[in-house]
Amino acid sequence: MWNYSYSFADAMLAIVLMAHYFSMPRANTRTNRTFLQLLGMHIGTLAADMLATYADESYAILPAFWLYILNMAFFMLYLARAYWFFRITCDILHLHPEKHRRMLLASSSVFLMCGFITLSSVFTGAVFRIGANGYSRGPFYHILYACWLFYLALGVVLLFRRSGAVNPYQFFSVLGYHLILLAGNVARFLLPQYLIMGAFCLMAILQIYLVFENPDLYLTTRRIAFNATALRDELADIVSGKQPFHILAFAIQNYVDTRGIYGGMQMDRGVDMIARYLNKNFLGYRVFYLRNGCFALLGPRNSVMWDVILGKITDRFQQPWVADDVELYLAVAFVSVDSDSAPASSDKVVNSLISALSHASQAEDGKIEAVDIRELEREADVKRALAHSLAENKLEVFLQPLIDSVTRQPVAAEALARIRDASGNLISPSTFVPIAERTGKINILGEQVLQKTCRFIRDHDLDSMGISWINVNLSPAQCMKGDLSDRFLSILSENGVSPACIRLEITEQSVADISLMESHIEKLRMSGFNFSLDDYGSGYSNLGRVNQYPFVNIKLDMEIVWDYFHDQNQLLPSMVKAFKEIGYSVTAEGIESAEMADALSAIGCDYLQGFYFSKPLPMDKFVETYSRA
Ligand code: C2E
Ligand code: MG
Ligand code: MG
Repeated sequence: MWNYSYSFADAMLAIVLMAHYFSMPRANTRTNRTFLQLLGMHIGTLAADMLATYADESYAILPAFWLYILNMAFFMLYLARAYWFFRITCDILHLHPEKHRRMLLASSSVFLMCGFITLSSVFTGAVFRIGANGYSRGPFYHILYACWLFYLALGVVLLFRRSGAVNPYQFFSVLGYHLILLAGNVARFLLPQYLIMGAFCLMAILQIYLVFENPDLYLTTRRIAFNATALRDELADIVSGKQPFHILAFAIQNYVDTRGIYGGMQMDRGVDMIARYLNKNFLGYRVFYLRNGCFALLGPRNSVMWDVILGKITDRFQQPWVADDVELYLAVAFVSVDSDSAPASSDKVVNSLISALSHASQAEDGKIEAVDIRELEREADVKRALAHSLAENKLEVFLQPLIDSVTRQPVAAEALARIRDASGNLISPSTFVPIAERTGKINILGEQVLQKTCRFIRDHDLDSMGISWINVNLSPAQCMKGDLSDRFLSILSENGVSPACIRLEITEQSVADISLMESHIEKLRMSGFNFSLDDYGSGYSNLGRVNQYPFVNIKLDMEIVWDYFHDQNQLLPSMVKAFKEIGYSVTAEGIESAEMADALSAIGCDYLQGFYFSKPLPMDKFVETYSRA
């Protein structure tokens, strides 16, 4: 009565699949482990099905005991396979056992219940019976279908609810194997004598294999090491399990140029040799090749071995890598990531690692650089806030008074940019100005600050606040834009503001095009702007260059002001004296107490700025505080 032909074909294909699967290195991910279990379960079910069917046919010569055992084994494996298909769907949809424990436990209860009813069949005959005429179905036989349908339905519901966790191709693949399995159940129901369910299950397994589990997805093209996707997926499991980890990565310095020197084939060989060396020497650590000469080793966090590994790799790179009689001399730069500094997303870890590696590979020396991913995340938040503030013109300008050291009355103010994060908290310009400089947003930022300052001057009577001008910071990076001076002049003229009301503060940083900067400064000065040298003494300043620019004022950096206040050496007074003799006025920043104000006034500073007098204030608050009644 029974037809085994599907089962034989199924078994042959399953063997080919398994042989291929086992011959390749496999990434250590949860989905992968579940897939292996599913494959094992499938082969087990297939064997049990054929043996049980054979036993059922041979009931006359076999003891009932064997019929019970084989049928029981088959039914249990059959139910387990349904449950394991569901489990792999959960893995594919990134439902983590730790995070979704309750849901996953609840869903396993259906499998356990059906399993229990099946096992009880020995006494109750619920699912099957072994009688005088051999095997027959019991009244609860259809719980087999119920179990399958439950898991298929739940799988599809979860797929729709978590469709964001997969891409459209993966989405339809998951839906596809659910439909295949549903069709298998229908076929089995209609044609029970053909043992056809296994063939449908194998189709579904093949589908999962091709889309999600093909070992090639996790290997580099020459199959010599695991790739960045493997690192990301393995890390995803580790991160979701909150296990501590450590990654030591390194990049071949100037990989592209080096490839040009030695040739692509040789470099590929070299890369293979390095991968082999790592795999051989650091057993127990996972080795990944992240393209372009970047390797990563993943392992437990508190391993004392990391320093040893670093030392060994460094030593090894002192020697050449010999590929086809060509000696490759390669230098490497290291980057490390620790779970302490890593956030919840493995994707971010891998992306940050790759960008840190590409950065390190360009560096001059191959020092180890520790990547603080939280820091990178914060930087991304600041970038977002900056882009948003500039696009929406939401940048705020605060004003801090500059106090005349003799009268102790405000004479001017400094305009200081402020932006807010998503929760409305102020972000310091020390954080966002360097980012704006790096990303080229400094130009628009500078223009918006100037625009808002000019509007303030246009709408308010500076005299009534006792001030004569407002200092606006000009980053040297802004001077790299060809039309800077024209833009500044047109902003002033749009608002009808005289350049005499604005003083530009500039720090003396090295810039790419010094002549362009000089020509802007010259043009702006000719148009009536005054310049202050900001942050004098902060490390950038070069006394010889001070004279080259047309400054009218030198602002002493807080650091040297504080240093002077703490150990009253003669350096600062002599410097102030010298500046004044040449004709500069001098401003001391960072005045935080009456004593500091007195001390800095005593050595001849003309203007004082600091929290002792006032913190930077929002514009309306500034007007309120300083307007004379
Ligand atoms: P800066 O131009 O040297 O500005 C002075 C900084 O010192 C301000 O910090 C101010 O709040 C702070 N400060 C003033 N008095 C005291 C004090 O008594 N104690 C302490 N601890 N700090 C004091 P802020 O506003 O955070 O600005 C930081 C830097 O960001 C500025 O340094 C400036 O270089 C830059 N920046 C601010 N706004 C702009 C802007 O619109 N354009 C450009 N290019 N840079 C800006
Ligand atoms: Mg300044
Ligand atoms: Mg300053």
